[in-house]
Amino acid sequence: MSTKNKNVNNLTGIAASPGFAQGEALVYKPTNLDFEPHRVPEVDQEIDRLNRAAKATFDELEILKQKVKSQLGEESAHIFRSQQTIVEDDSLLDEIRESIREKSCLAESGVLEVFGTYRALFEEIEEGNYNRERIADLEDVQNRLVRVLLGRPQQSLAFLERPVVVIAEELFPSDTAAMDKRMVQGLVTEKGGITSHVAIIARNLGVPAAVGVRGATITLESGDEITLDCTEPSQAQIYGNPSPDTAAPLKIRRQAYQQRQEFLENQKGQEPITLDGHRIKLSANIGSVEDIPKALADGAQSVGLFRTEFLFMAQKTLPGEEAQFQAYKKAVESFPEGFVILRTLDIGADKKVDALPLAHEENPFLGYRGVRISLGRTDLFTTQLRAAIRASAYGNLKIMFPMICGPDEVRTIYEHLDRIKKDLKNEKQKFDEHLQIGVMLEVPSAIFMAPEILALVDFVSIGTNDLTQYLLAADRMNEQIQDYYQPFHPGVFRAIHQVVQVAHQVGKWVGICGELGGMPRALPALIGLGVDELSMNSQSLAESVYKIRSLTFHQAKALADRVLKLGDSKEIQSILEKGD
Ligand code: PEP
Ligand code: MG
Repeated sequence: MSTKNKNVNNLTGIAASPGFAQGEALVYKPTNLDFEPHRVPEVDQEIDRLNRAAKATFDELEILKQKVKSQLGEESAHIFRSQQTIVEDDSLLDEIRESIREKSCLAESGVLEVFGTYRALFEEIEEGNYNRERIADLEDVQNRLVRVLLGRPQQSLAFLERPVVVIAEELFPSDTAAMDKRMVQGLVTEKGGITSHVAIIARNLGVPAAVGVRGATITLESGDEITLDCTEPSQAQIYGNPSPDTAAPLKIRRQAYQQRQEFLENQKGQEPITLDGHRIKLSANIGSVEDIPKALADGAQSVGLFRTEFLFMAQKTLPGEEAQFQAYKKAVESFPEGFVILRTLDIGADKKVDALPLAHEENPFLGYRGVRISLGRTDLFTTQLRAAIRASAYGNLKIMFPMICGPDEVRTIYEHLDRIKKDLKNEKQKFDEHLQIGVMLEVPSAIFMAPEILALVDFVSIGTNDLTQYLLAADRMNEQIQDYYQPFHPGVFRAIHQVVQVAHQVGKWVGICGELGGMPRALPALIGLGVDELSMNSQSLAESVYKIRSLTFHQAKALADRVLKLGDSKEIQSILEKGD
């Protein structure tokens, strides 16, 4: 804690999730496993180190297993038992000992060599086979063993002892899925933009977050006292060990923010209807059943986007039909007055699932992701659809598919749906025969193919996060080109307009479930464009209700007309900020 008490006042970033946080910094860095391989004179010493490390690794896994068992149950803890079987496997340890003897190398090198051989063997097994999916376990155990050998401490967000503000270069969905959410007061990352998944998760959790904070992991240290001010949408301010002079105005800002929150609290549950009687559907985005209590507390009556992939990311094995069914049933039963739109597995690119290793790709956002994986892995797709369709017996469930490019994929999806419904009928399983089907419009070709797509589906929801990155060819994760990633670009508004026109001609409804839908500044223009549903992080619901109830549809349409005539993001942003 060498910088303890050192004041840090100059760190800024993008406020990705609103709020104020105060707490102790935890600088999260994945443990560096680099070492210098070399020949060793005393192989027996290395073998001794290996034996001790294998035992210590087993013990670490035992602690994890017990903790996970008490927090998440037997099934989730099973993964650690199966990892223990690897590290206590005598024939594998013998091979490592053999390699150390033969090459007179460090125990670390022996571990890497033998695990590497097994990894290569497992990679030859066809995809979908359970054994192939053990690659992730092998890799986990290998890294744990090497880290123990190197005597380096373990970094994980899964088991936090105290409330902390997490400071990291980058947080992947797998880090945040495993994170002990009760202990996290705030998040600060160097990378990522407003629509990166860490930002989305933070908003869903109601945890303040700043992204794009350059130098955070170098300037701050674990143990520093952090104040994170994300009350202004444009800029987040991060203070380390603030002096009394800095702390006083911060206290005033915090109080003002709290007062505003109290005012918005009264908006919860009010009808989202404009002064001249135009009704909007407002719903929440959730990432897991864990998000449901917060969404309900924030006044959500429906879920416009259930990102089911987080169920797959939270564990090391793929969730089976029963586990998925229970989660989807729970979701739909929690919103008896409204609906739940379940989006099928949308992994690939930045969203990685340990139990489903995917090959490295040069352009992952243009690669094997979303519905492409579901259509390539019909075993997984069938399991998920069976679980989802069965859950439709318990409430108003709709299913939606991500990354659709055109009507062909939609037709193929219907073939799967028909097949699965037929099977379920034969098995005498209950489900809603009229369950609605929709797709996400987030790939530019789908905007142009909207008439053909809309002829097939019941509704569409525009994924503005991906649509923006694809329309502008600007990676949503790459902070270097964040200036090119413009959520208020005229192209985005014109695309939305085009879709709404086509959909309303054929009597279908249009939602927005990307982050734009939850930005209070954008709301009047989106309503004016005729968007029927806005699905957002639940934290934004109260503010959105307040905005909707303070304007007329007539005003909103006039604003949307002006936006459609503008040719530049800055101009659009400026009139939306003024709100006139
Ligand atoms: C989107 O792309 O706008 C969207 C809602 O999906 P995700 O952010 O999960 O890619
Ligand atoms: Mg998307």
